[in-house]
Amino acid sequence: MDSVNLARRPTRLVRVGHVAVGSEAPVVVQSMTNTDTADAEATAAQVAELAGAGSELVRITVNTPEAAARVGEIRRRLDDMGCDVPLVGDFHFNGDRLLREYPECARALAKYRINPGNVGKGAKGDDKFAFMIRAAVEHDKPVRIGVNWGSLDQSLAVRLMDENNRRAAPLPPDAVMREALIVSALDSANKAIDLGLSPDSILLSCKVSHVQDLIAVYRELGRRCDFPLHLGLTEAGMGSKGIVASTAALSVLLQEGIGDTIRISLTPLPGESRTREVVVAQEILQTMGLRSFTPLVTACPGCGRTTSTFFQELADRIQTFLRDSMPVWRLQYPGVEDMKVAVMGCVVNGPGESKLADIGISLPGTGEVPVAPVYVDGERAVTLKGETIADEFKAIVENYVATRYGIGGAKRREGGRGTIPIRPL
Ligand code: SF4
Repeated sequence: MDSVNLARRPTRLVRVGHVAVGSEAPVVVQSMTNTDTADAEATAAQVAELAGAGSELVRITVNTPEAAARVGEIRRRLDDMGCDVPLVGDFHFNGDRLLREYPECARALAKYRINPGNVGKGAKGDDKFAFMIRAAVEHDKPVRIGVNWGSLDQSLAVRLMDENNRRAAPLPPDAVMREALIVSALDSANKAIDLGLSPDSILLSCKVSHVQDLIAVYRELGRRCDFPLHLGLTEAGMGSKGIVASTAALSVLLQEGIGDTIRISLTPLPGESRTREVVVAQEILQTMGLRSFTPLVTACPGCGRTTSTFFQELADRIQTFLRDSMPVWRLQYPGVEDMKVAVMGCVVNGPGESKLADIGISLPGTGEVPVAPVYVDGERAVTLKGETIADEFKAIVENYVATRYGIGGAKRREGGRGTIPIRPL
């Protein structure tokens, strides 16, 4: 499928370091570390890992003086690694003090995330919020006002509940809570503007943990402001549940043009790489046709016609190979992220899917001749057989990438399908 151009909700454009968010900019993928920020070495390593996987912004917790004291070092370590991903500082209860006492931290971050429900109550909370906004103005940083269901300003929630109870026809309590989230975000944004922050330096988020609540909140928030919106289902959960819930919620909103930056808040399994949330975010955007990041493999699910797990292993191996190759290919082979590869289990649908892909292989199913036809640009190019099918197919893919997307490949791209010679193996 070609990229689609969904009508995006019109927003302001906010610059987070060198990354543009909102307006016509592509939807930005971001993630967050889970290291102790006071451990600069471990945090810089994880930020670099997330950025290498494709995270375009990375948020780090800045929760203690020890953490704030190391943010400048984390930035330097990343710069020394050649990693220029902008860092976002996640501030809560003591952000005002940390930004005041650690100016290097305030300078090194590209954006501050402020949760208005966690800055404190009453006049004291107002003062702390004002200090953080003034720090953002002083250091010329954008701010994400990030409201969260779990830390909603309770005085605001109580006030809206009281007002609702006085209505002739009160709204259900969950509708009032959704309204409280939106009011908290919009009121905080207006306060920030009154304190001198440019409207072009404000992003908003209202995270909740249930799909239908998230969709309802963001539809309404999007209708009532033109700030770029950060989407994410908070506490999405582990494994497939977290992925499915996040995908369900974000897909509906993205399809409606709502959302300028996304994060998938997955709980990693013990020992699992943090980068999975980045891959899922990319795959949501790519499978919806909104952006391209990595060539995707079309693979059939397999069935009783599949002779073994070989084709599943090959599909997985090729997808991993493509993803692992992307940090280098992205620089060497512009456009390769749009390439489509098919790995199919038999001849029922194999040749058809292979012809639709840029390059595809159809493995022999039960009772079929033990050969694997390979299609390139819709034409049958070669037939593989024997023990080395996997390595030979991988070599064909590499050759295709270098030929089609390498220097001089632009001409071939213009030439369209059927123009790539297959190098003899
Ligand atoms: S392509 Fe063949 S092996 Fe794959 S699901 Fe269809 S019938 Fe089964």
